[in-house]
Amino acid sequence: MIMASKYRLIVIPPPLQGHMTPMLQLATILHSKGFSITVVHTKFNSPDPTNHPDFTFVSFHDGLSDSYTVSSKNFIHISSYLNTNCVTPLKEILVRIIKEEKISCVIYDGLMHFIDSVARELNLPTMLFRTTCATNYLSYHWLPTLQRNGYLPLQDSSCVCMEMVEGLEPLRFKDLPIFNLGESETDIMVKQATESLSVKPSLGVIFNTIEFLESSSLQKLRNLYKVGVFPIGPLHMCMTSSETQEKNNNCSTSLVKEDYSCITWLNEQEPRSVLYVSLGSIASWEEKELIEVAYGLANSEQKFLWVIRPETIKSIPEEVKSAAREKGKIIKWAPQKEVLAHRAVGGFWSHCGWNSTLESVCFGVPMMCQPYFGDQRVNARLVSDVWKVGIECSEMRIRKDEVEGAVRRMMVSEEGKLMRERAVLMKDKIRVGIRDEDALNKLVHTIIMSSSNSST
Ligand code: UDP
Repeated sequence: MIMASKYRLIVIPPPLQGHMTPMLQLATILHSKGFSITVVHTKFNSPDPTNHPDFTFVSFHDGLSDSYTVSSKNFIHISSYLNTNCVTPLKEILVRIIKEEKISCVIYDGLMHFIDSVARELNLPTMLFRTTCATNYLSYHWLPTLQRNGYLPLQDSSCVCMEMVEGLEPLRFKDLPIFNLGESETDIMVKQATESLSVKPSLGVIFNTIEFLESSSLQKLRNLYKVGVFPIGPLHMCMTSSETQEKNNNCSTSLVKEDYSCITWLNEQEPRSVLYVSLGSIASWEEKELIEVAYGLANSEQKFLWVIRPETIKSIPEEVKSAAREKGKIIKWAPQKEVLAHRAVGGFWSHCGWNSTLESVCFGVPMMCQPYFGDQRVNARLVSDVWKVGIECSEMRIRKDEVEGAVRRMMVSEEGKLMRERAVLMKDKIRVGIRDEDALNKLVHTIIMSSSNSST
């Protein structure tokens, strides 16, 4: 094993849970390989340094107010905001850091692609970290051409929705991350994709994935890049490898306090009997939808554990409380990985964020896939069509009868049972894939070689 004790890395996560988590996980893994870590982060949604006592944390001003909430409505704008407003404050911080210490590499998230040019100006080597799946990133390469050829904006009414996108099979037009965006949002998204593709990190691109899950997309990306492509994932699984396990048992990457009372509740439930319901940190249901979901869950007669984030609702409707009294438990934020690893959980009704998707497949839990925006549609397609460990619910309307039907299909039908069996097999194959993967050592080697060469 290569050790890297004298090399310092700067990692820069965006202030979003689904991006913060994998960046901190990656940093933890690289720290276990001997690198020193400085986390440079925005003041808004900042990580808790006490969870990572071995890292140095440095914040910079981002101009976002503490009361700002990221939602599915403004999500598309946050990347533009960060890329426009954080250039100067970040540069000042980096200048200060490099006066004190040599930096071997800046690892930044693709959502904040401005960092690449800031780092290059300061002669710092860069690695781009893509926190979505490789297949989603690959689809970005198609967007400008689709726009030029008049396919965008792409709406439910577009006649090509169900057709496969040539070169991206099995993705259909409706699985693309720009599906159902209005004209101006589509323009923003294509612009962001184009900008993000024009960035050429000097050392390579890291993906939170593994060859076994996305080999064809990874191969296509390798053909498109001049630099190394490193599939290092699923990161939460690599974190629990023997090297990092002991140190990191308590290192939470959550921006919100997790409610562990749900584990006590799960301990009392039958094996594989509980449906876990969560839409991640950004997507949410409106009040009338919550009521339909509650009736649907209650009528399905299945047990459920449901995350309802407090900022998404003024107060929990009485119908929802009543459904939970009968058959379930509602919490504000779950220790999700522990929940999915629990023997009582038999299904996950999910928005299919990439972290949630990876966590679910790694713990052998089949999914009810209800994607809302961005990469979620791509992930849902992988889960339901490629890996066949989930039910596609993207067309499901949030009405009690449709919810009841989908929940029963997932939890008690023969189809659901087969999916659960496939999910368990897949979990085992992922573990074998992680054991056989050498990308992490290659990544470590690349950074060390670049750093050693630059000091000679
Ligand atoms: N998560 C959690 N508790 C919850 C809901 C979500 O810890 O109650 C975590 C989940 O484990 C995942 C992350 O939040 O790591 C959500 O990321 P994802 O990419 O799935 O979705 P996003 O929030 O970015 O839409």
